[in-house]
Amino acid sequence: MPKTDDPSLKTRIGYGFDSHEFHPGIPLKIGGVSLPHDRGLGGHSDGDVLLHAITDALLGAVAAPDIGALFPPSDPKWKGADSIIFLGEALKRVREAGYAVANVDSSLILAAPKIGPHSSAIRARVAELLGVRGDCVGLKAKTPEGLNLDHSAIAHVVVLLERTAPTKSARKKKH
Ligand SMILES: [Zn+2]
Repeated sequence: MPKTDDPSLKTRIGYGFDSHEFHPGIPLKIGGVSLPHDRGLGGHSDGDVLLHAITDALLGAVAAPDIGALFPPSDPKWKGADSIIFLGEALKRVREAGYAVANVDSSLILAAPKIGPHSSAIRARVAELLGVRGDCVGLKAKTPEGLNLDHSAIAHVVVLLERTAPTKSARKKKH
């Protein structure tokens, strides 16, 4: 089985899933963008369902522990935390493994608010956070037809990583 620093492994794929429940009177953040809505997503940190799924996809791509293991929801330290912290840790682990993000694709499933008007802002913000071009971030928004999940927001994400460094030992020699 190839190791993470095996130079023959030029690309790696990652997949992430997340869901959060809507609650009245809290801010709504999706993809690092604040959206005007009468309800927000509760639960872990600021409830940014898209950033959490991207974080898990990145961590999964380098076979690192998942977001819940690195940042336990039970730890009061992460209550209301900015999810950009989690994404930053995942990106650090991707870099340390010798990879960079090639592109990411995502599906958001939620009844409201409509994502269309905010889609380009979310894509631009996610691209900025990941350090990739805007056309390397895909975002589809769907309503939960037939799922009876109008009280929830769900995100599915796939990410492709490309190798940037030859091997771990070769990188160490440079320092
Ligand atoms: Zn989450």
